[in-house]
Amino acid sequence: MQTTTDPFINQLRLMQHIEELAQIGRIADTGVCRLALTPEDMEGVKQVKAWMEGAGLSTRIDAFGNLIGRLEGRHSDLPILMIGSHIDSQPYGGRYDGAIGVLGALEAVQSLIEQGIQPLMPIEVIAFCDEEGSRFNKGLFGSRGITNQLEEGELERQDKSGVTRREALEACGCSPADFDISVYSPGSIGHYLELHIEQGPVLEAMNAPVGLVTGISGPLWLTVTMKGMAGHAGSVPMVMRHDALAGSAKVIAAFDDMVREEPEAPTVGTVGSLRVFPDSRNIIPEEVSFTLDLRDMDMKRRNRLQGQLMTLLDEISSRYGLTYTVTEDTNSEPRYCAASIMSVIRSAADEIDLPLPELMSGPFHDALALSYVCDYGMIFVRSKDGISHHPSEFSSPEDIALGTEVLYRTIRSMCISGMSSNRYPD
Ligand SMILES: [Zn+2]
Repeated sequence: MQTTTDPFINQLRLMQHIEELAQIGRIADTGVCRLALTPEDMEGVKQVKAWMEGAGLSTRIDAFGNLIGRLEGRHSDLPILMIGSHIDSQPYGGRYDGAIGVLGALEAVQSLIEQGIQPLMPIEVIAFCDEEGSRFNKGLFGSRGITNQLEEGELERQDKSGVTRREALEACGCSPADFDISVYSPGSIGHYLELHIEQGPVLEAMNAPVGLVTGISGPLWLTVTMKGMAGHAGSVPMVMRHDALAGSAKVIAAFDDMVREEPEAPTVGTVGSLRVFPDSRNIIPEEVSFTLDLRDMDMKRRNRLQGQLMTLLDEISSRYGLTYTVTEDTNSEPRYCAASIMSVIRSAADEIDLPLPELMSGPFHDALALSYVCDYGMIFVRSKDGISHHPSEFSSPEDIALGTEVLYRTIRSMCISGMSSNRYPD
């Protein structure tokens, strides 16, 4: 007899699916290259579609190139419980990113079917088209598509060989003329769940196989330009200098310290790009531009840090005799997971005595697009050494199975009880 903590999902079948999918577009032994809407990607879609049908789902590929497998609910007019992720990859990608979310969702729903559970509401397992954005330089295509968030000119974006997104879609049998039909009407998706590898080192450091995502942090992207005066590196005395790089270095170092002030907070700050003009060893740098990336789940803290940064720029500019400009490139708010879904996920993990630490997601996922139309929840699976977007990306079969088991129990509880919408905090 099965005890309550025994797994309901079939780990062997799940891992077989993951391994088999990884053979399509396989590179560097353990990696994959399945760029969106390429023959490899389509072969992956075809394979997953066959598995969905084998599990008893009715399938379709919509106009955006999303693969959707549907299990009818007892009330087919109730808002859908959507569960998914993506199976496209980076050019030198790993086999788990996205794939465990699609195949884990399929495994969970297949287990429901095998146990004779018919959900209250329809369930749709979805493999979104082009989450990675690698080929056309803009991602979350399928998830923004069904939620009506595509922007002007997206179909005209070209890949490196000059193929437009429109051409690539049409070559895969998808018709942009039918986009309208594939958009979900407001309210028709009730909830969205996504299982994903963490792609970071937090769970590993906590020795936790699985984590509960509290939300996707919104990045603030700034470009700072500090301007001083060039001069000969050998002749201008130190007291007379306006060295833009010396000033920028102080700002960058102080910014890093500032972000570290609350070690328990998930706040992260990065200066990832630096341009020095004129960039010569014997000229005092006249102008320096650097990018700044600041992310947090707590907008109050993020805003406070931004304020501190401005004070810092004032102080250091006046100390070094510099002027500065700041341009804002991106400013998006964090998207919180629904408290109601988080509590179902927490109970699911409790059932199998699995500790479930909370963490935020720095990277974004298809869930980000869905967060604008429905409540969502995310489960993270531990990543080895935090590595992702690389063939050495790894999550153990045991960890993936645990994450999928939590997903299964979450779905089961949501589709038996039904869930009301309860968004948090808006
Ligand atoms: Zn992903």
